[in-house]
Amino acid sequence: MSPPSKKGPLMKVALFRGNYIGGRWVRPSGGAPLVSEDPGDLAHPVGAVREDPSAVDAAVAAAARAWPAWSGASFARRRRALKRFQQAVRRHRVPLATMIAREVGKPWWEAMREVDRLIARVDETVTYAWPRVRPLTVPVAARVRGICRYRPQGVLAILGPCNFPAHIPASQFLPGLLTGNTIVFKPSEFAPFVGQMLAACAQEAGLPAGVFNVVAGGGAVGARLIEQPAVRAVLFTGSVATGRRIQQALWRHANKSVALEMGGKNAALVLADADVRLAAREAAIGAYAMAGQRCNATSRIILHRRRATRFLDEFLPLVDRLTIGHPMTPGTFMGPLVSRAAVAKYRAALAVARRDGYEPLRPGGPASVAGYRGHYVRPSVHLCERPGSIRKGTAPFYRTSEIFGPDVAIYLVRSTDEAIALNNDVPYGLVTSLFTRSRRAFEAVSRRVDTGLVNWNRGTIGSSGLLPFGGTKASGNQQPAGLFAIHQCVYPVAVLEDERPLVARDIPPGFPA
Ligand code: NAD
Repeated sequence: MSPPSKKGPLMKVALFRGNYIGGRWVRPSGGAPLVSEDPGDLAHPVGAVREDPSAVDAAVAAAARAWPAWSGASFARRRRALKRFQQAVRRHRVPLATMIAREVGKPWWEAMREVDRLIARVDETVTYAWPRVRPLTVPVAARVRGICRYRPQGVLAILGPCNFPAHIPASQFLPGLLTGNTIVFKPSEFAPFVGQMLAACAQEAGLPAGVFNVVAGGGAVGARLIEQPAVRAVLFTGSVATGRRIQQALWRHANKSVALEMGGKNAALVLADADVRLAAREAAIGAYAMAGQRCNATSRIILHRRRATRFLDEFLPLVDRLTIGHPMTPGTFMGPLVSRAAVAKYRAALAVARRDGYEPLRPGGPASVAGYRGHYVRPSVHLCERPGSIRKGTAPFYRTSEIFGPDVAIYLVRSTDEAIALNNDVPYGLVTSLFTRSRRAFEAVSRRVDTGLVNWNRGTIGSSGLLPFGGTKASGNQQPAGLFAIHQCVYPVAVLEDERPLVARDIPPGFPA
């Protein structure tokens, strides 16, 4: 499907209806304006909202009021509500994808995929996630039954990232709602109107007042939200720096469950027997889709040096031919970065790479797109022929940090052992993809890589909603995405049911008979 016209009604300035609290649109009485810019067309901002941290208090109160009835509703009723939400999203599929493309600069084809994944997530949650929290019954003793029952946590605070502003929060609030929680969702500050559209879908679906609330804003709103006493669980997706801030803010609140999905420094390992053409294509898509702004982007290619020439002959022409353009221009593969700060961080990374001795095979840097002023950059490729020679000094920024831009570092190695060591030698542990024709090699390597996702002969991006998602080390804890997100929405209650009469031998010695 081609994108809607750039001059059509979907590209008009968006109007802020207010925060969605207790089933109503509530316009903040105070607070600062927050402009949602179109990173692909800075001359035409998407619109402006008002950021009022105090709105959080009313949203949490509404969610707490709605909780007893919603948690007591039958599974069938909650499932029907989710299906109505799914239908509402389906009706607004094109406007929602357009809003994602405008607010965060995601190319149209990726924005449509994001919305379709959200739609699919409803059925995945009902069919595959829900059975994971069905009661579990065990025989404890004759006529004594043990049951593990899962209860909803209560009010969930969901903090969304900029790069998947609809699908990732939904992968948390859908299981949250299905298991009987009420929600306060704070979308990314880069995508407040995507949040508003999701609230409108919840309203259209007839979710009871207070069950799903949305408050616009940035870090100050998020910080106030997580501290609210009625918030029982925090589900966060974002950078490791913010995740650490959240952990620090909540260290006193031992009662709150804090689940963090953070960044990655993912690698594609290309072994000596790999299908090099396939590896080059998958690595290029993994590195440059959404301009590298994915937690599972391919940041590193760890390449057996015997295949280096063949691989680079395949890979570099692909990089040179990627189409950079406005997200709504048909045929655009790669749009802009999300913000001015993201461009600055990307350019700083390029400078550090050179300082640290990497060879710029493709130097990257700012790009221009005819007819638009935006945060456009070119893809970059850096080569490190002798990984052992990289300076492992005090600031290994380029080697170990998530750049979150269209850059890939290629490391040449002599052996599979060296490839595995390099893969693991970063603070993150999200995805490794392995290119080899040998299943045995794949099995052996997959046991030794310290990552939460391992792909065979496919790139690092493109996960399945039917599997868990999340990583080791600084990539996060608790896996609050993918199939297992549902575990962060409930807590287990152990129930012992005893149908035995009181018998003398069960009475402890010394206890009055
Ligand atoms: P970010 O950390 O800047 O912001 C994430 C969210 O946290 C936003 O809603 C933000 O407003 C909020 N926030 C900021 N400060 C806060 C505070 N003090 N208290 C509470 N909330 C606060 O991240 P981003 O730039 O929006 O997203 C990009 C990052 O997200 C990357 O690191 C990427 O790898 C990661 N990410 C991870 C996954 C995953 O599943 N592992 C998926 C998508 C994105």
